[in-house]
Amino acid sequence: MKIICIGRNYIAHAKELKNPVPEKPVFFLKPDTALLPKKNPFFYPDFSKDIHYEAELVLKICKNGRNIEKQFAHKYYDEISIGIDFTARDLQADCKQKGLPWEIAKAFDQSAPVGNFLSITEFQNHNNIKFSLKINDEIRQKGNSGDMIFSFDEIIAYVSKFITLRQGDYIFTGTPKGVGPIKIGDHFKAFIEEKKLLAFNVR
Ligand code: MG
Repeated sequence: MKIICIGRNYIAHAKELKNPVPEKPVFFLKPDTALLPKKNPFFYPDFSKDIHYEAELVLKICKNGRNIEKQFAHKYYDEISIGIDFTARDLQADCKQKGLPWEIAKAFDQSAPVGNFLSITEFQNHNNIKFSLKINDEIRQKGNSGDMIFSFDEIIAYVSKFITLRQGDYIFTGTPKGVGPIKIGDHFKAFIEEKKLLAFNVR
């Protein structure tokens, strides 16, 4: 499976990182080695001194497809969770400045913890799904899918023009404002509505 991540999908987050608000979805990939095995801690990697969290809604693809039309896109995902798009912000800043690809900053091992999935049928309105991240029991990020620049269906239509989606792929749909650095000893808990779907420690 592969993990597709959307960047800059919330206006307030694009602005906090001083990025322009995109006219089309921006996306990049993480390999399956970016998943964090359940119950494992996240080990702070030694190649970065500025790992940031980005809490994001994650869709699970349920059917293979390419060139999917927006009106049919909802048939291609059936589950939703919350994940953390860990980012080595120091390496990313260097890549951005030099115009280089982002993989070393985004696609490293265990950079994509993902929680338990819920059936998407639990949500009547896909444009009003609330999610939040607590670190050490303090709220750090709050988001709502209604604030996304590109909806789930627009993301699927756009990405599938370029890349075939396969059953079992994940799509990280972008982070709201409030990203920040992590430190060893932090405890992460992530929620959709009131449901805790993901919990792990940083070691
Ligand atoms: Mg992200």
